[in-house]
Amino acid sequence: MSICLADLFDAVIFDVDGVLEYQGRAYPGAGEFLDVLRRQGKKLSILTNSTLKSRRTCAAGLRAKGLEVGEAEVITASFATAQYLRATKARSCWLMLQGEGREEFRDLPQDPEHPEFLVLGDCREGFGFEQMNRALRLLVAGARLVVMIPERTDSSLGQLELTVGAYGRMLEEATGQRALYVGKPSRGIFAAALQSLGVRNRRRVVMVGDKVATDILGARRAGIPSALIRSGEFREDHLMGKTQPDYVFDSIRQLKEAWTTRF
Ligand SMILES: [Mg+2]
Repeated sequence: MSICLADLFDAVIFDVDGVLEYQGRAYPGAGEFLDVLRRQGKKLSILTNSTLKSRRTCAAGLRAKGLEVGEAEVITASFATAQYLRATKARSCWLMLQGEGREEFRDLPQDPEHPEFLVLGDCREGFGFEQMNRALRLLVAGARLVVMIPERTDSSLGQLELTVGAYGRMLEEATGQRALYVGKPSRGIFAAALQSLGVRNRRRVVMVGDKVATDILGARRAGIPSALIRSGEFREDHLMGKTQPDYVFDSIRQLKEAWTTRF
């Protein structure tokens, strides 16, 4: 009996940047693939290491590009971090983050003086002398460091720039404290996605991503099969390491075509 990929999986977790869209535009075939999955009754989760966006703004941004996604299907690194703090019953935190991602922390008490957690997300130009020294002092005074994503550099906006993980490492070095990282490839964000999918068997879930170091490695650690798309920030040398995806496709369109092809 022949089978196709659609027979193997009940749910699909998508990375956003470099998989569904890149530099402001949806990839050809991405919207159609989401439609195919909906018709088949598959569950979807959108998993992004974005910290600046909230679930609401991320879903709205995808819909504006023709990708039909509901807010409840989106897991951002900022949302997963807020979920972590709620799960640990955090007494207070001090949030270093710009953008709408701050919405996810609305119900968490902020304490600028003696927070239990110092929570580091993307501060853009706010990653300055004042802010980083303030963070340093709060950590030395006893706050625990939670860093939303481990990535140290990012080129998704066109130019290479330092990002959250680099500032997190700086604070780790300066204080000797080990941070907790939430975003891909950490387990925390995958746990949030699996919880929202409500899937019991994680072998029936496939993670679709363009980055081996975050999407594919994270899926492997979480026990989820993975499909790499050679798009976005993918480079061939990323496949030279130990971490290998279960499937490789040249584009999301090629995955869409393979999804229902019997072999
Ligand atoms: Mg990506």
